[in-house]
Amino acid sequence: INATNDEEASARVAAVDADTGKPTIFDKIIAKEIPSSIVYEDDKVLAFRDISPQAPVHVLVIPKIRDGLTQLGKAEHRHGEILGHLLYAAKIVAEKEGIVDGFRVVINSGPSACQSVYHLHLHVLGGRQMKWPPG
Ligand code: 5GP
Repeated sequence: INATNDEEASARVAAVDADTGKPTIFDKIIAKEIPSSIVYEDDKVLAFRDISPQAPVHVLVIPKIRDGLTQLGKAEHRHGEILGHLLYAAKIVAEKEGIVDGFRVVINSGPSACQSVYHLHLHVLGGRQMKWPPG
């Protein structure tokens, strides 16, 4: 079994867990029960460095309150405001990290996209030439 298959398999397990609505590792990061390298924070969102960076800059932006938003594919109309705020926070992160001239924002939603943590998060990636299409 190769690394890609491992990633896909664990994404499928995570999706099953998500349906239980139980807290994720990100709740512990928000509560500061486990440490993270915080890049930006306000009353609604937290941005911190990914533990397994895929680019020189790789920051996750998450809502502090999950409010049922386990994944983008479960978004409802009432989530519109926080979704907009997350995207704007991604731009603030890009500015703070000095990559505002070229960066990528990714949201993996569901097992086919290899989502592994079921608390909505935006990946902000940059600091190198990004390729298209992504894998
Ligand atoms: P997903 O695959 O669900 O789109 O992204 C989840 C991301 O969370 C992955 O890139 C993974 O490296 C990151 N991650 C998982 N656990 C932790 C953690 O405990 N701390 C930090 N900083 N990142 C984490």
